[in-house]
Amino acid sequence: MPATTKELLLNNVAFYKDLSDENKIIFEKRITQFLQTVIITGVNTTVSDLDYILIASGAIIPIFAFPDWMYTNIDEVLLYKDTFNEEYKTDGDQRNILGMVGDGAMQRQMVLSQPSVRASFKNATDGHNTVIHEFLHLIDKADGTTDGVPEYLLSKPYILPWINKIHETINQMKQRNHSDINLYGATNDAEFLAVVSEYFFEKPEALKEHHPELYSLLAQMFTASK
Ligand SMILES: [Zn+2]
Repeated sequence: MPATTKELLLNNVAFYKDLSDENKIIFEKRITQFLQTVIITGVNTTVSDLDYILIASGAIIPIFAFPDWMYTNIDEVLLYKDTFNEEYKTDGDQRNILGMVGDGAMQRQMVLSQPSVRASFKNATDGHNTVIHEFLHLIDKADGTTDGVPEYLLSKPYILPWINKIHETINQMKQRNHSDINLYGATNDAEFLAVVSEYFFEKPEALKEHHPELYSLLAQMFTASK
C-alpha cells in the first residue's frame, strides 16, 4: 500500500480515520482486494487515485463488519464525468442520476458520476453518499432479489421486524410528505434501504435520535458478527 494511499484515506474518508490502527490495516487490505477484482473505467474522464480510494471505500464501509464478504456481482465501475440520465448519457434532458447499478446489458456494472463520488466523501456528514447508496443496492441484490432485505447481513429473527419498519416508515414519509429521511427513500423498499444506509453511515447520532428503532435495526444489520 503506497504511503499516498494512507494519506488519501486519512484526509478524505472519515470512517477510516475513526478506525483503530489494527482496523485501519484491515480496511487498507480490503480496499486493495476490491480494486484487484473490480475495474474502474473513466468515461470521458480520468480516474484519479482519489477516485479509486473513494469508490473502494464506499464498497467496503457497509460490509466492513463482515470479514469474509466479497462482491461477486460486479466486475466494473464506469465513472462518468457528470450526472447522467437513464440511457447513461451525460448530455440532454434529465441528466440527474448520480449513480446506478446496471441491469440487462449492463449486468455486473455500476455507473457513478465523478462529481457525486467526490461530494459523497467531501461532505461526510450531510447524510448523502452516492457510493454507499449504490453498493447497498449490490449487497441487497447479492441474495437474488433487490427488495430492501439484504439477507446476508440480516439474521433471520430480524427480517420481519425490518420489513415492518420499512413499510411503517415509508407510510409516515408519504403521509407527511416531509421527513428528515430523503423522500426518495419512499420510492420502494430497495431505495429505502439504500437511502437510510447513507443516513446511518453519515449521521448516526441524528438517526438514533429521530428513529431509534430504525437505527437499532440498521446497527444490527451492519455491525453484528455472524
Ligand atoms: Zn438507488
